[in-house]
Amino acid sequence: GLFGQKGWKPVWRDPAPKSEYDVVIIGGGGHGLSTAYYLAKEHGITNVAVLEKGYIGGGNVGRNTTIVRANYMLPGNSEFYSHSLKLWEDMEQDLNYNTMMSQRGVMMLCHSDGQRDFFARRANAMVNQGDDAELLTPEEVKREAPSIDLDNVRFPIYGGLMHRRGGTARHDAVAWGYARGADQRGVDLIQNCEVTGIDIEGGVVKGVQTTRGAIRAKKVAIVVAGRSSQVAAMAGMRLPIESHVLQAFVSEGLKPVLPGVISFGMGHFYISQSDKGGLVFGSDLDFYASYASRGNLPMAEHCMEACMTLMPSLGKAKVLRSWGGIMDMSPDGSPIIDTTDTAGLFLNCGWCYGGFKAVPGSGFSYAHLIATGQHHTPAARYRLDRFRTGRGLMDEEGTGSQHN
Ligand code: FAD
Repeated sequence: GLFGQKGWKPVWRDPAPKSEYDVVIIGGGGHGLSTAYYLAKEHGITNVAVLEKGYIGGGNVGRNTTIVRANYMLPGNSEFYSHSLKLWEDMEQDLNYNTMMSQRGVMMLCHSDGQRDFFARRANAMVNQGDDAELLTPEEVKREAPSIDLDNVRFPIYGGLMHRRGGTARHDAVAWGYARGADQRGVDLIQNCEVTGIDIEGGVVKGVQTTRGAIRAKKVAIVVAGRSSQVAAMAGMRLPIESHVLQAFVSEGLKPVLPGVISFGMGHFYISQSDKGGLVFGSDLDFYASYASRGNLPMAEHCMEACMTLMPSLGKAKVLRSWGGIMDMSPDGSPIIDTTDTAGLFLNCGWCYGGFKAVPGSGFSYAHLIATGQHHTPAARYRLDRFRTGRGLMDEEGTGSQHN
């Protein structure tokens, strides 16, 4: 197979950084790349550099469990994720790239009368937003996923909330597709280029210092996920963000055993099966602040236990790999897409453990804000000052307790 690729050429250029750009984007993850793509495509702004300290796709965009959904409830999140899912549905055509978007459904399980009532409320909010939602009985849950153990007594399954337009996508391909699309439109993707300082004069951003020299810029956009606090500190900002590690696991390849994504909120566990057959699953944060992209054993053990509780039949599958990523946790579980007190400096962060599904929507809305100075309507509530004033908080962290 590898010999067959001998003649393949890189799909994006490897330019040296220029001395000046209209827009410098710090961070070549999913959000940085999609921002660059939409700046070029939607706003005709192509004198743009994406500065990435490692390699494209090496951050969380290549470490997540690939789940895509629009099943949030609260105003602010609901319209944002709804818009993002619509962009997902057109992404392969738009990028002319196979991102393996597979709307195989996301099913969340409930374990009490109260939780079932809450799911009914959430389903109504989703339908009101124009997205799909179905409440399932325990028998319907079993029909969807026969490997679930309904007789499990510790966390009896009262039903499920099915979101059929949710599913999974190939995470690397999403990064590569946006990277290629941005490069083709003239954006410079500069890898191995760490931003070490942000130049500000008289309250106006002037550029950045990097390991490959100083670069001037009219606008600078921070979008570095788990490193948000560190990079924002270069501009004198103290963010309401904590960085925590989140782990994930993959098993050996199996024949199809799961229909789609299954979220077991009570066990803080979720699982899906990749196209290659591997079970892809994860659990909760390791619960201490850290910049290490690997986790510890207690959470790995908890995750395996939760899997055994829900689907004991998977017990013989061998786990092949585990890894971690650095999550930019915000206090209310919702993100920030905003201007800052420094003119020309923009901020995008706080995606917690759920920012993969936001890649297209976040890039679209961030590009809109950078290009026009106006908040894009679906992302208009993602203001930084909600944590200072207490107004407009969107406490939807619980949605992510079904992580992903
Ligand atoms: P990243 O890919 O991390 O991009 C940020 C980039 O900034 C990095 O490449 C980094 O190297 C770069 N950078 C940092 N500092 C600097 C600097 N000083 N100079 C230059 N570059 C810098 N979300 C979902 O929606 N669904 C899921 O199923 C899901 N599962 C997850 C499972 C795990 C285990 C993890 C770790 C995350 C998961 N997420 C999920 C969350 C999602 O992956 C992230 O929220 C999202 O990828 C973050 O945005 P990003 O892609 O831009 O981040």
